[in-house]
Parts: sequence; structure tokens; C-alpha cells
Amino acid sequence: MRSHLLNDTTAESYRRSVTEGVERVARKLATTRGPFTGVTPAELAPVIDAVDLDRPLGDASAALDELEDVYLRDAVYFHHPRYLGHLNCPVVIPAVLGEAVLSAVNSSLDTWDQSAGGTLIERKLIDWTAARIGLGPLADGIFTSGGTQSNLQALLLAREEAGTADLSKLRIFSSECSHFSVQKSATLLGLGRESVISIPVDRNKRMQSVVLAAELETCRAEGLVPMAIVATAGTTDFGSIDPLPEIAALAEEYGAWMHVDAAYGCGLLASLKRRHLLDGIERADSVTVDYHKSFFQPVSSSAVLVRDRAALRHATYHADYLNPRRTVAEQIPNQVDKSLQTTRRFDALKLWMTLRVMGADGVGELFDEVCDLAAAGHDLLAADPRYDVVVEPQLSTLVYRYVPEAVTSPAEIDRANLYARKALFASGEAVVAGTKVDGRQYLKFTLLNPETTVSDIAAVLDLIAGHAEQYLGENLVHA
Ligand SMILES: *Cc1c(COP(=O)(O)O)cnc(C)c1O
Repeated sequence: MRSHLLNDTTAESYRRSVTEGVERVARKLATTRGPFTGVTPAELAPVIDAVDLDRPLGDASAALDELEDVYLRDAVYFHHPRYLGHLNCPVVIPAVLGEAVLSAVNSSLDTWDQSAGGTLIERKLIDWTAARIGLGPLADGIFTSGGTQSNLQALLLAREEAGTADLSKLRIFSSECSHFSVQKSATLLGLGRESVISIPVDRNKRMQSVVLAAELETCRAEGLVPMAIVATAGTTDFGSIDPLPEIAALAEEYGAWMHVDAAYGCGLLASLKRRHLLDGIERADSVTVDYHKSFFQPVSSSAVLVRDRAALRHATYHADYLNPRRTVAEQIPNQVDKSLQTTRRFDALKLWMTLRVMGADGVGELFDEVCDLAAAGHDLLAADPRYDVVVEPQLSTLVYRYVPEAVTSPAEIDRANLYARKALFASGEAVVAGTKVDGRQYLKFTLLNPETTVSDIAAVLDLIAGHAEQYLGENLVHA
């Protein structure tokens, strides 16, 4: 069994084994004809059930053969130009290379004595990101597992900085389009459901700062504490960016922590054409960035940045076996002192390889391309009488709904759109997402693949219309 351990004597077997895996994935990428096969859970479950985990196959080739059936054949492929679903990006090759290196070396970024250079690389990328944001000389941060964890940590710091023992007095303000992890974090932080004040958005799905101002005033008048304002730079549904300068001014006026959730919009930090959309982000106390969304990085790669590194002390705990107090005086860089996690992946290496091979401009160019594509897609939808489109995109998301020519009830239109989404998914020809707007069923393209063209969008709109018409036609017959 020792032949399976990765070490000096097995280097050749490692090379063969990984190369074979890479070979299969490469073939898969070259031959997949759609983003999905349309397989159902009921079809796939028995295939996986049939695998006896107590009877190993013994060699990698056999396991890879089996993997074809249990995973690779029916996976959802984000690199395919007709994957237009959620906030998943196709990944860049330098990052995948970084992934292969980091898992083989297997550094753990909690302490210097488990990572050495890895720690310094992560720190340099944090400094690089903070400088792009413009957070100033005291900035710091840490890589996290994703935007959810980044938001949680930011709100933890905000809670501690609020300096109020009575948690029931704390209030968080975020737009009605903010990510659900804000609410989740509030619950985890012991703040209760009523602690999050939902601020309405304008017609472009951006937080109404006038309402925010009024709510902050009410909060103060009631003797409550405005703990944090969460501005979203790129809402998950619409890619809309809250008015950051106005929110920054209000945060200052009311002494609230300003957190910018740029999980999606962070790609603008590298953009050559649209960086100005993030103006005001430099006034934040903390920022969430998801490199695994708009920097074309593999899951996971995310970070939380803070304006004042002193705030990270709220995540610092010492253990004699790991990061004893003396290591602080000895200036040993232990990243665990800043993190909610202990054992932690060297995800930063993927971004490092990306920047060293392509540079930030290379990433920004890709993100600009998908934003341009979304603008073109919006024109297409706006000119198409079969569709209603919700907002002009600031980033790369389009929310729209099929509307039949013949008069039908809104509920019937909802059902036709939902049916079209499901039928499209089942066909495997394309994957789109869905959401609700004012209680009505809408469909959504999240465009993160620069390989997707306007004709792909047009073709998918035809497919959707076809499915929706079929649904409505059948229902007329049955009615
Ligand atoms: C995706 C997203 C998150 C959550 O990030 P994960 O990496 O999925 O945990 C938070 N906020 C926004 C605005 C997002 O789009």
C-alpha cells in the first residue's frame, strides 16, 4: 500500500497517474458537445450506489474508467459556451496548474512551519489585492473558502468593533438584493433575524441610499447601534453595484462599519475599461472578493480584506501546540492568527500562477469581454418582442422572462418560464438559471465565459422560446 504514498520513491508513479488523469480530462474537454447530459438524479443514483467502497479497484486506470461513468460523463461543464447558469467561471490554465502543485505539495497555510514560502506568497497577494482596492497602508486580510466565509468574518469583526455587549441592539443594513450569507452570518453571530434591515433597491437594483439614510436615523433614534452597512458590488442576481460613495459617507456619519461584498464585482479590480464602477470601494472597512467568480479561478479562491489590520485580532486565538503567544513576539508569520479556519489550503497559489503567467490585465480583459457580451445580450433581449428584460447590466448578468404574444395569466407565464428552464436543462443543450423578480418567475444568464458569443445567446433564446411555446400550446390543448 505504500506504493500509493506520494514521496521520493513514487515520483514516477505520481507522474504517470496524474498525467493519465489530465489526459482524460483533456479528452473530455475536447469532446463535450454540451454543458450537460441532462441526466436525472434518479438515473445517476443507482450508478453511484452500485460502487462498493469496500472493494477498491487497486489501480488508477480502473478508477478513472469508473469515474467516467460516475462523474465525468454527466458533470456540468462550465467551460462550455452554452453554460450560462450560475456564477461559475471557466478556469484559466495557470490556475489549474497552481491547483495541481498545491495539492501535491499540500502546504497548510495555518502556520509558517507548515507552509514557509506559501505564507509569504499569500501575504503578497493580499497586499496586491488591498492595493488594487486602495485600502491604504494598514490594510491586511486572509484567503477564505468563499464569499460566504469572507462575509461572516467581516461581520464578526464589525460586531466586535461595535463595542456593544448587548447584541440585541446591533443592526446590519444591506439591500434586499444582498447575498443570503449576510442573514446567515447575522444568525451565526448571535444577532437574530431582526438584526438585518433590508433596504429597498431602485429600478436598477441598487440600494436606495435615501432609504438607507432614513433607516440609519431611525436606528439611532431608537437607541440601537448601526453595526455595519453591507454594500454589494455586483449583486448575485443582477450584477448591480450599490452606490458606494453615498454609502461610505453614511457609514462615516453614523459610525457604522462599511463592508463591501464584491464577491462578484471584484473582477473589476483588474478591468481595463470598468474599474471606475468600483469607485468608493477604497473607503470600505472590509471587502469580500471571490477570485473563483470573476478572476477565472477554480473553486475555492476567495479573500476578505480589511482597512485596519488591527481588526483581525478578533479572529486571533493562541494554542500551545500550534501558534503559541511567543510566536507573535518572535515575528513568526502565522496566518491562522487571522483566519476562522485552522488547516487551510494554499489557494493563493492559483492566483499567483495566474498573475505570473497572464498578469492582471489578462484577467481584466476576460472579465471586460463578458461584460461587453452582456451589454450586447441586453440589446438583443430588448429588441426581441418575445422577451422582457429587467435591467441594463453593469456586470455580466441578464435577467429576463419569456412573454407570449397571446394574452395569458401571469401565473401561466411563470409556469412557462420555469418549464422552459427545466426542459432546457433536461435537454443538456444549454444551462440557464432562474430567479424571482417581484414574485414573478424570471430566467437568468450569468455570462462568465468569454467563449460565449452573441449567437450562442440568440440560439439559447430560441430554444427557451421553443420550450415555452410548447408548454403553452400543450396547456391550451389540455384546457
Ligand atoms: C457568490 C456570492 C457570495 C457567496 O460566495 P461563495 O463563494 O459562494 O461562498 C456572497 N456574495 C455575493 C454577492 C455573491 O455573489
